Amino acid sequence: MRFVIENFGCQMNDHDMEKMGSVLIDHGHLPGSMDDADIVIVNTCCIREKAEQKFYSLMGRLQHLRRKKGTILGVTGCIAEQEKENIFERLPFIDFSLGPSNIHRIAEAVENATGQVRTSAFGDDGRSPSLLIRPHNTRKGVKGYVTIMKGCNNFCSYCVVPYVRGREESRKSGDVLAEVREMAERGIVDVTLLGQNVNSYNNGNDDLSFPELLSGIDAIPGISRLRFVTSHPKDISPELIACFGTLRTLCESIHLPFQSGSDRILALMNRGYTSSEYLGKVEALKDKCPGISLTADCIVGFPGEEDSDFEATMELMETVRFDGIFSFIYSARRSTAAAALTGRVPPSVAHERLSRLQKRQRAITLDSNRAMEGTRAEVLVEGVSKNSPDELTGRTRTGKIVNFRGDPGLVYKLVEVDIIKGYANSLRGALPDTPGR
Ligand code: SF4
Repeated sequence: MRFVIENFGCQMNDHDMEKMGSVLIDHGHLPGSMDDADIVIVNTCCIREKAEQKFYSLMGRLQHLRRKKGTILGVTGCIAEQEKENIFERLPFIDFSLGPSNIHRIAEAVENATGQVRTSAFGDDGRSPSLLIRPHNTRKGVKGYVTIMKGCNNFCSYCVVPYVRGREESRKSGDVLAEVREMAERGIVDVTLLGQNVNSYNNGNDDLSFPELLSGIDAIPGISRLRFVTSHPKDISPELIACFGTLRTLCESIHLPFQSGSDRILALMNRGYTSSEYLGKVEALKDKCPGISLTADCIVGFPGEEDSDFEATMELMETVRFDGIFSFIYSARRSTAAAALTGRVPPSVAHERLSRLQKRQRAITLDSNRAMEGTRAEVLVEGVSKNSPDELTGRTRTGKIVNFRGDPGLVYKLVEVDIIKGYANSLRGALPDTPGR
């Protein structure tokens, strides 16, 4: 049968989608399109209200498909886990629902659906077989993703992840290293390690620490670039900081969510650090690895956020000068501690704060891109530009997009590119010695 997986949410979900696709292919199913699919799976996210609304509106449309063609419909991921059996009341037409720790049962759920048997599976007993699935290399190119841990023990007051992804569980380092070796043999050169709280990998376990795992991967021939998401500031250890600028493959970039610059709001968020502790870690990273690119997540309009708290966020942003920020208005999530907090920020105030923050960040990003003019950067060529067949597009080690003229034979290669111009979202470059550039 042909299948389609519609995905919402983060890179972990993206990777889970690849894993499910691989399991289905192993069971004789084939990837298809919405036009010819016999099975449609929706892999869900409930981190923000908007993602949840989008999911339910998609399910409304898919209900028609089922009526018309008898398509098998399944829901996986965080909304499945959050709703558990209740999802069948809200969406009585679906065939199965699997939480993130149970996606290894996807082929069984499809098989059951063909016999009109409904499948549901949620939770885990601390050992999730889904964490161990090694997906086929279904993405084109030389970039690969490896899940090294799942879950979170932090319980930030606004976040549903600990409720829907469970407690932290790390994969054995030997298994991770074997997977990366296999990827290198297949020609993958750029590896991203994934986990909800990636730098608490193996906390308390008798196995390699996170910095030791990075060193192990660094020694694998063929790997040129190594990154990881997402990090928690409180788990950025001196040993991890020491890896930057030292390990050959570790890219000079880190995504380090700060969420707020106000200590009062950080305490309400249960983040486990103060703004000065955060800034101390940033300073140490910049000292060890000058030019390191920092990106972050930030929430505005958290319950109780006063103007002075927001100003503290703006100040932190000015001090760090991030290369980019993913910023959002606080959205109350069921089961979380923050949902019970008083002091809701009026939507108009939250929107105004968000747009001020985003405007300032756009200017900082532009400055940072312009500061690269006249430098030379290593670029991993990702493909031919969508806008022009004569142009190639790729990324620097700091994750910046570079467009430049070049031969399509350079796709998936690492090349040195001179940076000519910095724009708001990308850089214009030229191969050295390009005539008339
Ligand atoms: S660290 Fe906080 S924000 Fe990140 S997944 Fe865990 S609870 Fe959510």
